[in-house]
Amino acid sequence: MEKLRNYIGGAFLEPSTGEYIDNYDPSTGEVYSLIPNSDDKDVEMAVEAAQKAFPLWSGMLAEERGNMIQKVADGIAARMDEFVAAESRDNGKPVSLARHVDIPRAVSNFSFFASAIKHFASESHYMEGVGFNYTTRKPIGIVGCISPWNLPLYLFTWKIAPALVSGNCVIAKPSEITPYTAYLLSDVCAKAGLPAGVLNIVHGLGQKAGEAMVVHPKVKAISFTGGTVTGEHIARTAAPMFKKLSLELGGKNPNIIFADCDFDKMLSTTMRSSFANQGQICLCGSRIFVERPIYEKFKEAFVAKTNALVVSNPTDEKAKMGAIVSKPHMEKVLSYIELAKEEGGIVLSGGTQVQMPAPYDKGYYLRPTIIENLPYTCRTNQEEIFGPVVTITPFDTEEEVLTMANSTKYGLSATVWTNHLQKAHRVADQLEAGIVWVNDWLVRDLRTPFGGVKASGVGREGGWEALRFFTEPKNIFIKQ
Ligand code: NAD
Repeated sequence: MEKLRNYIGGAFLEPSTGEYIDNYDPSTGEVYSLIPNSDDKDVEMAVEAAQKAFPLWSGMLAEERGNMIQKVADGIAARMDEFVAAESRDNGKPVSLARHVDIPRAVSNFSFFASAIKHFASESHYMEGVGFNYTTRKPIGIVGCISPWNLPLYLFTWKIAPALVSGNCVIAKPSEITPYTAYLLSDVCAKAGLPAGVLNIVHGLGQKAGEAMVVHPKVKAISFTGGTVTGEHIARTAAPMFKKLSLELGGKNPNIIFADCDFDKMLSTTMRSSFANQGQICLCGSRIFVERPIYEKFKEAFVAKTNALVVSNPTDEKAKMGAIVSKPHMEKVLSYIELAKEEGGIVLSGGTQVQMPAPYDKGYYLRPTIIENLPYTCRTNQEEIFGPVVTITPFDTEEEVLTMANSTKYGLSATVWTNHLQKAHRVADQLEAGIVWVNDWLVRDLRTPFGGVKASGVGREGGWEALRFFTEPKNIFIKQ
């Protein structure tokens, strides 16, 4: 059985514990590789390696660092098929999705920041007759990046790329549920000639390896993407140590459909925003609110399309949905479907597991699920399910739908469908969310601020926001 290794100080190392964690292929339910079960000793080694590398890396010109990071982007692009197959196998997502979204985006994350750092400028403020202020932006030092399982390499690189180009040395931990493409990335970095210790990838459990990163006094900033409960715990630990924190957390995003929208475009995009990646994207619209005049029409068309959606093994090119990431997660999603029924919900489509033929018969497959007849205040409509489960609810007025949309503790993203210009602006303006799409979904410009409000997080990623997060500003005044 293949054993993954930590990437520390440019070397591929076994975990100091000598222990490994099983890595499952969700499409078959079989263990197919072993992940280092790292602990604080491995993190300590990574910190020492990062400390050693910091003077060289932070002392390089931004342009040189950018060029080096571009080589990493090129290294992934050159091994596209290998990365695509690995991501699909590790996560259960359709190969087609990994090919069109995950891996190209990981390449873009590196390319984008390789270029962005060359354009990153600092501010100066002149006080007439008094003097000049100029602000320098220096790397923080050693930073920690922790990412989740749903978009493994995509979200891992979204943090690592800006952290590295800004001149920091990085300790990074991918999710223990989907570590494989991060492991491949370490090989790409080694071959691209990234100096030893600049990026260190430590595999293992959140409560052990992740926790060791968060509590380490020499790790000066933590960029975390994952669940809200974990984010809360990290904030509680890191805040008293005065670490910089970026927290990208859960969501329960509303998808608001007005009667005057372009119905066909809305319907096909709503299929994606509901069920892409098996509904396991933090930006999926899991609460669908439909204006009453088109509620029945929408319901009929949406249910018909959902019933026809192909759930299959991830290597099947026809698959629109693959496997759920893990058995415990599938069980969690199923338990929410049961809860929805207890709360009075009517399952219009799905609601059950899919039995696949061998060798996929022990894999974790769920039917895309639509539920109606639930109050917006119930747990099914308030808690993050993070699977292929959506609820549909009719509404009559803008005021009413805004109340329902803004009623959860989350505030990550929202989608609005209308052809009425002023209504689009009005509703977008009043939504409590960090990101709003009007008449589309998941269009991403890497320059824009990315993140949520309320329990969906603190801080923003993307563009200058990320480069600002990973640098420390210093204002210097000079008397005229
Ligand atoms: P999770 O919080 O369980 O784990 C995320 C990462 O944190 C993993 O690498 C895990 O090992 C690590 N971790 C766990 N406990 C830790 C601890 N005590 N200290 C340090 N690290 C620890 O989340 P998950 O189940 O992997 O991901 C799903 C969640 O992520 C969902 O809630 C989803 O909405 C959210 N998410 C948010 C965004 C966003 O941009 N806002 C994007 C993707 C996913």
